[in-house]
Amino acid sequence: MPAFTVSPRPCYAAGMMDIETLSLGVKAGERRALARAITLVESGRADHRLAAEAMINTLLPGRPETIRIGISGVPGAGKSTFIEAFGLSLIEKGHRVAVLAIDPSSRRGGGSILGDKTRMSDLARHEQAYVRPTPSGGTLGGVARRTREAMLLCEAAGFDTVIIETVGVGQSEGAVADLTDMFLLLLLPAGGDELQGIKRGVMELADLILVNKADGDLEAAALRTALDYRNALHLVRAKTTAWQTPVLAVSALNGKGIDEAWAMVEKHRQALDAVGERLRRRGEQARAALWTELGEGLLDRLRASPAVKALLPEIEGRVMAGREVPATAARALLAGFLAGQSGEP
Ligand code: GDP
Repeated sequence: MPAFTVSPRPCYAAGMMDIETLSLGVKAGERRALARAITLVESGRADHRLAAEAMINTLLPGRPETIRIGISGVPGAGKSTFIEAFGLSLIEKGHRVAVLAIDPSSRRGGGSILGDKTRMSDLARHEQAYVRPTPSGGTLGGVARRTREAMLLCEAAGFDTVIIETVGVGQSEGAVADLTDMFLLLLLPAGGDELQGIKRGVMELADLILVNKADGDLEAAALRTALDYRNALHLVRAKTTAWQTPVLAVSALNGKGIDEAWAMVEKHRQALDAVGERLRRRGEQARAALWTELGEGLLDRLRASPAVKALLPEIEGRVMAGREVPATAARALLAGFLAGQSGEP
């Protein structure tokens, strides 16, 4: 495994980015090259996008043996405390750990729910870890794409374990589950005996449920909550016949259950690998990403098309006034778009 070195090269100027040098730097595990490569992936500029893709393609086919873990939980569930304890224990076992985030709040451009660089400071300082602050801006789909590419870069740079974190407030859990081999749901001990309003769909995504803060006054409540979820899981459709979602009570603060959680990650991996499902899942995830890119690419082309631009005001007007159903209007726009394309190669 290459040791991290500070790159002796000067900053790569954005306009004259040397993709080959950057790619070699990433492969050599240079932290600075990795950071620049991820910045390139996150850039909204069209020329940067092409450069980012060219760079990533030089790093493929990637590493099937890596471990990709998604973690979600409400703000305050203890995600950063858990990831720090978990990550440090993995490093002790000889792993190299990268942490990325999908923050659904970032699209509003305001403060991020996942906070800033000060989270997980011990892990972030460790030379066997790489903690990337939350990317800002863009749609959930856009952030997910960039995170997917950032994950590939981290793996190419020698990080064998990638943890992708998100706040559990809705769709972002699905985005994280679609990027990873295993999805962990981090929960709080419930006050009463009610479940925490976790949607069934989110429970269906979970490969492992951890009830955090099983310490001190909260321990009994955490154990009870774990039992409640174990029972509730009987009512939830399993993601695969190869694995039944376990529920553990843990304490990120005092380390209780951290090793058991890791043991579950390994067990899950073995169970899925035994039936070829882990790599099949990765293939399906890549195919889904292809279709997402296709959909977005087509929509971009459609919006930019002069034929569509010419038709749009009137057709949108008819739909908004309730004089035409959206399906008919969309068909007319699509026909206009395709007619406008016919002269192109
Ligand atoms: P996040 O918003 O999900 O990242 O949550 P944080 O990791 O920032 O934790 C939120 C609060 O819960 C902090 O005050 C932590 O110290 C506390 N906390 C996290 N894990 C535990 C735990 O296992 N036990 C207890 N008692 N407190 C915890």
